[in-house]
This record gives sequence, structure tokens and C-alpha cells, in this order.
Amino acid sequence: MASKNTRANDVVELQTLLRSAGIRSTAARVEVLRQLRKATSPLSHAELATELSPLGFDKATVFRNLSDLTDAGLIVRTELGDHVWRFELRDGDHADAAAHPHFLCTACGQVTCVADAPWASRLKNSGVEVGSVTEILLKGHCNLCQ
Ligand SMILES: [Zn+2]
Ligand SMILES: [Zn+2]
Repeated sequence: MASKNTRANDVVELQTLLRSAGIRSTAARVEVLRQLRKATSPLSHAELATELSPLGFDKATVFRNLSDLTDAGLIVRTELGDHVWRFELRDGDHADAAAHPHFLCTACGQVTCVADAPWASRLKNSGVEVGSVTEILLKGHCNLCQ
């Protein structure tokens, strides 16, 4: 019962977000943002398309809207060395791509956002030896794979 209200509130909030970013609010854009907001890790185009196809949005639509949202600065796109673009919301924790590190499991490909990594911003700003850090990537085996 509460879920319906939550969804409606979500939609209104995301519509406002879209308009304040200067782009048109469409059903597809709202749904893409909702999925990304729900997610606890960055999602690939394929994963989003799987989630959204039951709602009537095909792969091409999802792809086009991911581009639009990236251009508008509402989401960020990362590539973690496995040639898959993943997307996540740009919010307080995602102020830019290097705001928090990502952990990639080399066995199953699962990506996890590593929150609470205060050293990440220090590394980013130290910059002297490495230039400008755009992505911090940790690799290994996740809990399920080790
Ligand atoms: Zn794994
Ligand atoms: Zn992340």
C-alpha cells in the first residue's frame, strides 16, 4: 500500500531533477533514474535494459536515454577495464567518477561501490605523480568467489 505512494513521490522527485538539469522529463528517463537510484552498484546498459524491457522500453531507448542523462550530468559512466560501460547516479557520494573506488570481481564480474574510503579523495587531490585520477579500481575476488 505504501509502495504506490513511494513510487509516485519518486517519480515527482525525479521529474524535478530532470527539469532542473535542463532536459525534458520523459517516462524512460524517469525509469532509468529510478533503477539507478535503487541499485547498490553501477549497472551496465544490458542490466538496465533487462530491468526496463518489461516496462516497454527497448534496448535502443535505454541506450539513448543513458547518453542523454550522462550528457546532462545526472549520471556518471565508468569503465572498469572489462570493456563494459556502467552507469550510476551522480549524487553526494558520486560527485565525480573518482569520488569513491569500485571493486571488480575478476571471477564473476560483479562491481561494488566502495563507500567510506576517505583515502580516495586524498589520492585524487595528491595528483603530483600521477596527474588527474579519474577512476579508482580495486580488483580481486568477491565474497562469493573467493
Ligand atoms: Zn565474484
Ligand atoms: Zn559507485
